[in-house]
Amino acid sequence: MPGYRGRFAPTPSGPLHFGSLIAALASYLDARHAQGKWLVRIEDIDPPRSPAGADALILRQLEAFGLHWDEEVRYQSDRDAAYQAALERLATLGLAYPCSCSRKEWREHAVYPGWCREGLRHPGRPIAWRLRSDLAMRPVTWCDRLFGRQAFDPAELGDVVLKRKEGLWAYQLAVVIDDADQAISEVVRGFDLLDNTPWQRQLQDTLGLPAPRYLHLPLIVAANGQKLSKQNLAPALPTADAEVRGLLHRALIALDQAPDATLAQAPVDEQLNAAIAGWDASRLRAQPYRPQPVDTP
Ligand code: GLU
Repeated sequence: MPGYRGRFAPTPSGPLHFGSLIAALASYLDARHAQGKWLVRIEDIDPPRSPAGADALILRQLEAFGLHWDEEVRYQSDRDAAYQAALERLATLGLAYPCSCSRKEWREHAVYPGWCREGLRHPGRPIAWRLRSDLAMRPVTWCDRLFGRQAFDPAELGDVVLKRKEGLWAYQLAVVIDDADQAISEVVRGFDLLDNTPWQRQLQDTLGLPAPRYLHLPLIVAANGQKLSKQNLAPALPTADAEVRGLLHRALIALDQAPDATLAQAPVDEQLNAAIAGWDASRLRAQPYRPQPVDTP
């Protein structure tokens, strides 16, 4: 597809695990099948959650699986000025406002009720910045390539945080600015981020940025039914070729691509070439989607 630009955007909070391999591999195959570009962006906007060296390890793990990227790796920690410019633009348009409320104060509400929209409730306290969801796109919609049409009421989404009280940028703002700046046309990522997409659509709309197409992947769960994550200690991906080969084959099975069993121990490039040629996103099985809005404090 002309102009196809995809990306894998890990948060470097630790090494990649099988769940992150699924997102990396699917976005890679979707891009390469379309003869598009595939970029890697390290989403290191939260230094306390990004141990030193995790980014380098992630890149080594991607290379071990043969997932070679185009262009230079982007680091969100270099992008402060771009996020600040976007926030200022929203503030000038009256679409972002400072908020001094603490989560404790609004804990009886499902989402932050917007108390600081017309002025700070507690001047002098540290401030976060929030989006005016009441002035943003209504309803918030997009068509997911796997999960179909999605529609959300902004009142249920609340006024998402754009910049946190500690001065850190929120994922929702940073991801939208960088997807647009890197001209990303296709976002392929884990199911757990489907819940976050409405805020990203709101921000694209308020900032007048083009929306990429979205493909959220079926959630990969551990044998005990829990989501695979660093928190529940999913094992780190190996980098030793002998182990990588078998795991790559298993990842292709998890993505419903029915890889040829004779390739189960084949070199990664051979497995990937076959998977690129045969990639078919319509083989993925959609799971029922249960919305679970999460607001960042
Ligand atoms: N950085 C996010 C994560 O690792 C993913 C961002 C995205 O793909 O939009 O969960």
